[in-house]
Amino acid sequence: MEKILEKARTEHILTKEEIVKLLEHDGEEVYDCADKVREEYIGKQVYLRALIEISNICKQNCMYCGLRAENSKCDRYKLSKEQILEQAEIAQQAGYKTVVMQSGESNTFKTEEICEIVSEIKKLDMAVTLSLGEHTREEYEAYKKAGADRYLLRIETTDENLYKQMHPKMDFYNRIRCLKDLKDLGYEVGTGCLVGLPNQTLESLAEDILFFKKIDADMIGIGPFIAHEDTPLKDHKQDNFDLALKVMAITRILLPDINIPATTAMEALRKKGRLIALLSGANVVMPNVSDLDCKKKYLIYPNKPISELSTLDYKEQITADIVSIRRTVSNGYGFRTRKI
Ligand code: SAH
Repeated sequence: MEKILEKARTEHILTKEEIVKLLEHDGEEVYDCADKVREEYIGKQVYLRALIEISNICKQNCMYCGLRAENSKCDRYKLSKEQILEQAEIAQQAGYKTVVMQSGESNTFKTEEICEIVSEIKKLDMAVTLSLGEHTREEYEAYKKAGADRYLLRIETTDENLYKQMHPKMDFYNRIRCLKDLKDLGYEVGTGCLVGLPNQTLESLAEDILFFKKIDADMIGIGPFIAHEDTPLKDHKQDNFDLALKVMAITRILLPDINIPATTAMEALRKKGRLIALLSGANVVMPNVSDLDCKKKYLIYPNKPISELSTLDYKEQITADIVSIRRTVSNGYGFRTRKI
């Protein structure tokens, strides 16, 4: 174990078998090692990204997700261009340097609409991240031309069989195609996986981590799977926090200079879950700046932490939390700085 960790920390390369050994092992040493790697490659700065959930309309039927098309209990909404820009402006005034627009996967927004919104936000001197699911290369190209800087699209799992079970009618290779196109078009690309899906093995999680390295991802979001009552996986209740934290920590050790968010799903499972993640390799927080009504309707999983504070007060609260663990909030845009 000591040897594997030492190799990981110095060479940033491990075999699948070695990663599985780390995943089987008690987490503390792995978290500590990831924290040291983060300190060495990224430093104390934490990047904040303002998350706006622009629509929960979705045509897909991912087995785990509360926004799945067949969930008739999900109260659907779509924000107008004006509403999105208003939230972006409030975020900019609160000091945010990045807006992340996320939605279910649909064609509710026309390509031109997204492009207009992106170019308006760019006028606020902010970086723009999109997370709108799978689209054509042409659409991704149009968003990029409008000024989008980054795109987040989790592979969710690299285990093709499991992928099929979890994503009826979706095609694993189309998702890979999307990630390739996004890289090709010059986006900073974020991907990631869910941890704790039914039938998911440690071997397949190790493959996920190797995949992140193979595609040279710029950002990796790791989320513990949380069972949602109104999905087919409702009975699959288990606490995936520690395993997700370990997958995240190993990802930091093997991809030392990328951006890694302390995900909201971690905060949903543990009080201060995001701070625990920041102390185990993460360097990004994505506070939700959507209005309260949207936050409540964008229910991917249950017990999502929803702050009732204003955008400014919430930012101050998160800043205080970050300062309490001896870290600082960066006032840069938060692009990846390559160190290896
Ligand atoms: N439609 C976009 C955004 C999806 S929502 C896309 O396809 O990329 C963002 C992420 O929420 C998903 O990528 C998924 O990993 C995560 N998620 C969905 N359901 C979840 C659940 N039940 N528990 C934890 N995370 C979940």
